[in-house]
Amino acid sequence: MNISNMNSTAIQEPVASSDVLIIGAGIIGLAHAGLAHQAGLSVTVIDRDHRAVGASIRNFGHACITAQHGELYDLAQAGRRHWLGFADKAGFWAAEAGALVVAATETELQLLREFSDSRPPGQVTVLNAEEVRAKLGRENTNGIRGGAFLADDLRVDPRTTVGTLASWLNKQENAAVHFNTAALGFGEGTERRARVATSRGAYEADQVFICVGHDVDYLFPEIAAEHQIKRCALQMTAAPAPESTSIIPAVLTATSMLRYDAFTQMPSASALREQVKAARPDLLDIGANVMFTQRPDGTLLLGDSHSYALTQPPFLTESTSDLLLQAAAQVLDVEAIHPTERWQGVYASSDVAPVLVRNISDSITLVSVTSGIGMTLSFGLAEANLNAFLSSPLARTTAR
Ligand SMILES: Cc1cc2nc3c(=O)[nH]c(=O)nc-3n(C[C@H](O)[C@H](O)[C@H](O)COP(=O)(O)OP(=O)(O)OC[C@H]3O[C@@H](n4cnc5c(N)ncnc54)[C@H](O)[C@@H]3O)c2cc1C
Repeated sequence: MNISNMNSTAIQEPVASSDVLIIGAGIIGLAHAGLAHQAGLSVTVIDRDHRAVGASIRNFGHACITAQHGELYDLAQAGRRHWLGFADKAGFWAAEAGALVVAATETELQLLREFSDSRPPGQVTVLNAEEVRAKLGRENTNGIRGGAFLADDLRVDPRTTVGTLASWLNKQENAAVHFNTAALGFGEGTERRARVATSRGAYEADQVFICVGHDVDYLFPEIAAEHQIKRCALQMTAAPAPESTSIIPAVLTATSMLRYDAFTQMPSASALREQVKAARPDLLDIGANVMFTQRPDGTLLLGDSHSYALTQPPFLTESTSDLLLQAAAQVLDVEAIHPTERWQGVYASSDVAPVLVRNISDSITLVSVTSGIGMTLSFGLAEANLNAFLSSPLARTTAR
């Protein structure tokens, strides 16, 4: 076994033992935990914090399924039913809300027509301006030419989802979630089981999934360097919705079409990039994806910008927030949006591959979504990783 990062705490006697141990109570860790529990395995989750406050609570809560391409699309679709199933079981809010892509120019609309033609009937519906206005819940919105409705996308409330899922899991038989418990090192325990040294003693399991989001470099600097993982920092704001506005789908715009793979495959993608470059270089400069979602309490979550570095400065730039808010105000045809909260979100990003799944040893697997779509991929990726474990000789529990 390739022992990695096991420090002197390796001599601890195990304080907890389960079939599966998950490090990290963000959505990637909890999706692995939930599906492992559903498969009849005993599960322990540990998180170094007192509650999860990472990327999984700082995002839009958008399972952006339709706009994925290739293998990522397959993973996103595979996870869809699990999102709905766990919302039902654990009692968190999830909506088959779809997504609305707003087009302000003929090029944007043309790309959406191409996208619609490339997908099965009914998955992507091209809309006229009136239909877009209806979905935005706005009577007047200048400058909207049309759009498209992406039927398969889901929405959850990012502020509450992982907390509710963790509490629910902790109440189940054969499942436990231990907060304020940091993983420090990894090695081999009794009977060749995996052993994890933590700030509260050693944990043993047949299989460990390490799901620490963008902090892979804290535990495995060589792997993080090899996968070229950087921290992508995003600026977000929350604001009350303009009066009486109720927006069910996630709302995307032209800059979103420059980011998601399914759009960038379309013949009009390069024309769109040139158009945005000419019309809104300021948005490209901040790596904008102008989009928003509405929480169940009516608050809009608005964003976002993207900047990449190994370590991110914590400071928010006011001009970046202003640009994003102005762009959203334009879509909603309101004079200004007045934010009540601003925050920085951080996720793992890599140009090498959109997902990192690496076996540290026979029984320890490192998992990080390195493309900013962890909510979308979480359950599909967890299902694939769990199936790999269950079909391996190490899955002793399945034979019990
Ligand atoms: C602003 C923003 C908007 C986004 N929008 C979307 C979106 O609309 N759709 C989408 O699909 N994705 C979106 N994403 C990406 C998505 O949020 C992430 O990919 C996803 O949340 C990553 O989940 P995670 O569980 O890996 O990480 P996290 O949620 O960051 O959780 C990692 C957990 O690991 C714990 N941990 C770390 N180290 C240790 C240790 N040594 N021991 C114990 N615990 C440890 C941390 O405390 C943390 O709770 C967005 C991200 C951001 C920041």
